[in-house]
Amino acid sequence: MRIAGFVKTTLQDWEGKNACMILLSGCNFRCPYCNRPDLIGDAEKSVELSSILGYIKENKDFLEAAVISGGEPAINDDLYKLIGDVKKLKVKVKLDTNGSNPDILDDLIGAKLADKVCINIMAPLDPVSYSKAAGTDVDVGLIKRSLAILQGSGVPYEIRTVAVPGIVTHESFGRMLTDLDGAESMIIQQFDPRITLDPKMNIVPYPKPALVKMAETAKGYIKRVRIRGF
Ligand code: SF4
Repeated sequence: MRIAGFVKTTLQDWEGKNACMILLSGCNFRCPYCNRPDLIGDAEKSVELSSILGYIKENKDFLEAAVISGGEPAINDDLYKLIGDVKKLKVKVKLDTNGSNPDILDDLIGAKLADKVCINIMAPLDPVSYSKAAGTDVDVGLIKRSLAILQGSGVPYEIRTVAVPGIVTHESFGRMLTDLDGAESMIIQQFDPRITLDPKMNIVPYPKPALVKMAETAKGYIKRVRIRGF
């Protein structure tokens, strides 16, 4: 496991909590719109875990939580140990994941190592749409299992969808919502074209009213919906 980055304070990544964020390198997807291409492969530089744990310990008076993100954190075997070390400091942990590792997600939840989960759902849950969005062949059965685990877990979770033109369209968003019917919470994230894995994704994002409309539609399926990125 390589820790590629550490953000000392974020107020945006866990609503209502003052959190730090640990960024792990490595991802099994190749989403063309990915804004963190530097985190997909092995990072050149790494941050020492001991310095992160030391920072959390020293700043526990205002730090309530740690967000474990990436890349895809769940491809790392030593994720359990990392989260265990963080939780020993009595801060809550949120895991960001692309949902492709349901067994690890299930284990983490079973071991009470995840206080919240954010799952990135990119497209309707059919192989063609999903593999196009993820830039690699995806077994959508794994994503469906992750969603089912979250829905039955009692752990708060949110679905994050990046509104990428050409990938999330009016038609495909409608099919996604049918797949996600009854889910707890969704964030519709504005697409940021400034840095993308595929340079051809330097395209114009949807205007804000289009995301507001998507959110209004989503409220017919999902209990709580927000837009973010403006
Ligand atoms: S956006 Fe896609 S490629 Fe980038 S880190 Fe997330 S899952 Fe991996």
